[in-house]
Amino acid sequence: MEILCRTVGLLAANCYILRNGDEAIIIDPGGDPQLLYPCIGDRVLLYVINTHGHYDHIAANNPLKARYDTRLACFETEAQMLFNPDKNLSAMVGARYISVAPDLLLSDGDTLNIGRETLEIIHTPGHTEGSISLRMGTVLFSGDTLFYHSVGRTDLPGGDLDTLRESIKTRLYSLPDETIVYTGHGESTMIGEEKRYNEWVRV
Ligand SMILES: [Zn+2]
Repeated sequence: MEILCRTVGLLAANCYILRNGDEAIIIDPGGDPQLLYPCIGDRVLLYVINTHGHYDHIAANNPLKARYDTRLACFETEAQMLFNPDKNLSAMVGARYISVAPDLLLSDGDTLNIGRETLEIIHTPGHTEGSISLRMGTVLFSGDTLFYHSVGRTDLPGGDLDTLRESIKTRLYSLPDETIVYTGHGESTMIGEEKRYNEWVRV
């Protein structure tokens, strides 16, 4: 399994491309689709997954859906944000973006497969109500829930700091310390590193 990262869009979101043989998955296509096309090439794009419904993580949903025969997926309660420019925050930057509808509504504990690997959906509300993290073996994609020595904003609609802390403590800090965390913005980290040094969420 190869994991590529492209930093996309105005807010420099991390978009991850998982590649296994002739198959691929994209997590959080937040813009700049022309940077993503060469990463896919002739592969079958199985899924486009949004960790949550903010504009900087969904802005390339539409061009990817138009170009590839793929399935768009997000958490079940997050779908409404994709269509609402006020809730997905695109209105704040004057873009008024409306995403195409998800093909797949995810629930906590659902799994998606690529090759022999399994992506497990972990509901981690707090940054938004329907934020998810995705675990694949010893790797975690944390969206805007957990950052390197920090956490996602909770001052936006649907955000709540206590809920975010609870999500991280109960759902992410319970993962093995050596789990690599690929974050939605900035550098990657590890669960053990965050348990020791993240001042926002003490163990
Ligand atoms: Zn966000």
